[in-house]
Amino acid sequence: MSTTWDKRTTAVHGGVRRSQYGEVSEAIFLTQGFVYDSAEQAAQRFEKAGDDEFIYARYGNPTVRMLEDRMAQLEGAEDGFATASGMAAVSGALTSMLKAGDRVVSARALFGSCLYVLEEVLTRFGVEVEFVDGTDLDAWKAAITPGTTAVFFESMSNPTLEVVDIEGVSNLAHAVGATVVVDNVFSTPVFSNAIAQGADVVVYSTTKHVDGQGRTLGGIILGSREYIRKTVEPYMKHTGGSMSPFTAWVMLKGLETMDLRVRAQATSALAIAEHLDGHPALSRVIYPGLATHPQNPLVQRQLGGQGGTVLSLEIKGGQEATFKFLNALQVAVISNNLGDAKTIFTHPATTTHQRLPQDQKDALGITPGLVRMSVGLEAEADLIADVLAALEVATGA
Ligand SMILES: *Cc1c(COP(=O)(O)O)cnc(C)c1O
Repeated sequence: MSTTWDKRTTAVHGGVRRSQYGEVSEAIFLTQGFVYDSAEQAAQRFEKAGDDEFIYARYGNPTVRMLEDRMAQLEGAEDGFATASGMAAVSGALTSMLKAGDRVVSARALFGSCLYVLEEVLTRFGVEVEFVDGTDLDAWKAAITPGTTAVFFESMSNPTLEVVDIEGVSNLAHAVGATVVVDNVFSTPVFSNAIAQGADVVVYSTTKHVDGQGRTLGGIILGSREYIRKTVEPYMKHTGGSMSPFTAWVMLKGLETMDLRVRAQATSALAIAEHLDGHPALSRVIYPGLATHPQNPLVQRQLGGQGGTVLSLEIKGGQEATFKFLNALQVAVISNNLGDAKTIFTHPATTTHQRLPQDQKDALGITPGLVRMSVGLEAEADLIADVLAALEVATGA
């Protein structure tokens, strides 16, 4: 690995470990354990395992380590720990570092399971959690008081695509010694500069753009070597949320094409958003890459203007018209993943965010007409035609 490599080169070659056979494609080390040459070697390895020495797949595995190294290099982090799912990464990143009496400040607009971890799990163990409007730097400033241990936010929120100022929030957090943990799924590893912009810990659900073809669940925690090896690794290896070697292999293969896929999806997402903006059947078109998105200047600064692969639409006529729209789609599918090669529509109010009480849905803008569109790799013209035809069926417009 060279530090001068472009992300595209790192995504193909970063972290490779070849066996004695010199295989081109990364090997799957589908093994739970590792044989020691002697009892002395076993004892020594348990005392201190070297970088290329493994003990048990829950602790680490060569295929998984390739993925961890490659993702860390891509993100500009010192190290990483791969997990069984994105949620194992979010909960592991936070739980491994927090204890009773600590204080966390979090953005309010979160993926449903992230909200559950912060609101229901951490508080049960005596961690104080305060939620703020993630787009309001003054609200962050007021909440990040001395004694705050960590701040948490999705750099681009699900499903209303609010963008949080990573540099601004990190400066406030670092002034009181708090650790900044960023769930960066919607920004994608392709467009992210989160570590350079101040994040201490970056978390991905690799289920999304890294796999990119809807096959495996996975996640990764990226940060300093000290944090990953002294805080995260002991917690994860003893609590059991490690990634399987087979999954790591699928993710490694996914990384080889991630840049091409994500750029194509983001280009289509922008074209679709521009085409649909102002359509008479829609009350809102939300896409951070649109010049009219309220935070587009921040998107320019933080993500080089890239708005990601997801947009949200609000259909006039409430849930009835919206369900008609979803049921009329011919190309896109109704599901709840994102970052997939297939275009996926989700109705957050009745699925991913169903659990939330109505007042919270209202506060987050999760209205009965809101749908999330994860743009896939189909031809842009087919996707636009599909959406326009379904809108006509649903609303006559
Ligand atoms: C999907 C997602 C997660 C959870 O990832 P899983 O791999 O499904 O566990 C966490 N945060 C965000 C923002 C997500 O989109």
